[in-house]
Amino acid sequence: MRSQTTFDLQYAHRFYGFKGEAQYLHGHTGTLTIEVEDTVNAGVNMVFPCNEIQKTAWEVLKNFDHALVLRQDDPLLPAILDVYEKQGIKNGHPQNTMKGAAFSNELCTAYPDCRIVVTKETMTVEGMIKMVYELLKDKLNIAKITFTSGVNVASEEYAVKETVARCPLCGIALDENGVCPKCGFKKR
Ligand SMILES: [Zn+2]
Ligand SMILES: [Zn+2]
Repeated sequence: MRSQTTFDLQYAHRFYGFKGEAQYLHGHTGTLTIEVEDTVNAGVNMVFPCNEIQKTAWEVLKNFDHALVLRQDDPLLPAILDVYEKQGIKNGHPQNTMKGAAFSNELCTAYPDCRIVVTKETMTVEGMIKMVYELLKDKLNIAKITFTSGVNVASEEYAVKETVARCPLCGIALDENGVCPKCGFKKR
């Protein structure tokens, strides 16, 4: 069975080189849905607690929220960094507190201090799904990701092979020693 969690992300982007109005900088509220698949954990009668999916995913996803997402070859990127630099906000600001941990992989790099994510490919809804899967696939048993932004919607399904050992009292994943990080339950 699946547990499902939804997030709203507000971001600005553009499709650099695209022949249409999306080549101009603009913003969206995007809705991301993550479905986690596993057996039903008998102790708590759930697949996985949705608030725990929220916590795990938001640590990463908040880098996309109130962020500017630009492709690595977009000439707007150096121009904007130059403005942020002159304004003294490129390397952070005391009021820029809702930051996630910086990440970098093949598809994207987050710069939380200036709220920019630099991407390898254009950030379409399809591009976002590829990035989110890459960032979270080792943390959650993701079976499906759906991303909606304006009139654009895309989804992708993934095969989930293994079951994760979870606490029968809290429902969250046990650590490598079989211990619940929340309540201390130990698998015998
Ligand atoms: Zn757009
Ligand atoms: Zn527990």
